Amino acid sequence: MKLKLTEKKPETPDVTSFIFSPSESLTWQPGQFLHYVLHHRPTDDRGSDRWFTVSAAPFENHVMVTTRHASEKSSTFKNALFDLKEGDEIEISVMEGDFTLNDPEKEHVFIAGGIGVTPFRSIIKQLDHDKKPINVTLLYSNHDQNIVYKEELETIAANNPNFKIHYIFSPEHIDEGKIREFVPDITTPIFYVSGPEPMVDALGETLKKMGIQEDHIKQDWFPGYPAE
Ligand SMILES: Cc1cc2nc3c(=O)[nH]c(=O)nc-3n(C[C@H](O)[C@H](O)[C@H](O)COP(=O)(O)OP(=O)(O)OC[C@H]3O[C@@H](n4cnc5c(N)ncnc54)[C@H](O)[C@@H]3O)c2cc1C
Repeated sequence: MKLKLTEKKPETPDVTSFIFSPSESLTWQPGQFLHYVLHHRPTDDRGSDRWFTVSAAPFENHVMVTTRHASEKSSTFKNALFDLKEGDEIEISVMEGDFTLNDPEKEHVFIAGGIGVTPFRSIIKQLDHDKKPINVTLLYSNHDQNIVYKEELETIAANNPNFKIHYIFSPEHIDEGKIREFVPDITTPIFYVSGPEPMVDALGETLKKMGIQEDHIKQDWFPGYPAE
């Protein structure tokens, strides 16, 4: 299937959301991702395909990819993506992933490392749209004050007292101390961790060492990024 670019939305100085309309009807669960192929020349050894979360919620009726551009270190894929013009197309394959919410009534802790916030946007926007409970503490680490989706997440939090956001900026990191500080009872919630692979692995280990049951931990790994 193909997606046609309809809009490029700058989110922060180095992060852009790409909004696409699908050529056929497409459904997904908030938190799922797609495999994208973008043919371009020359192509570096990182190739012409990538996985990206669908950062749009299903009710928004379009696909959105939110990603960072690493300036001069960027891959040829990212350069080609950022060079796309409205009307240009990108190929996708089937929707995948189980980094989705089962029961919104339960308590959740969402841990995002930088651009790892993309699945959480989709999940939270859809809960808000459906007027379902948002029992979520979002711990959001970032290397600077340029927070992706800051305004739209804070608008939802302002109307949902059980949705709390805590930012952790470099050089601070999310660790056991920060989790205990912002999550007083760690035994109840289900923990969702999303972001650069090394960070997601490290926090998975931290949560296990803290005694969180494995079935209370869900992880979404973004390869190709250094730890936040
Ligand atoms: C299920 C899933 C969902 C994902 N969702 C998202 C998402 O929503 N948004 C998103 O941005 N990403 C997402 N990713 C990650 C995405 O697929 C890319 O791996 C990531 O964006 C990095 O892209 P890039 O390789 O083009 O590197 P770039 O973004 O161009 O570079 C990233 C950084 O890594 C360095 N780097 C990485 N690999 C190399 C290498 N081989 N050689 C030299 N330098 C290197 C670069 O120098 C740069 O500093 C997801 C991945 C998966 C598996």
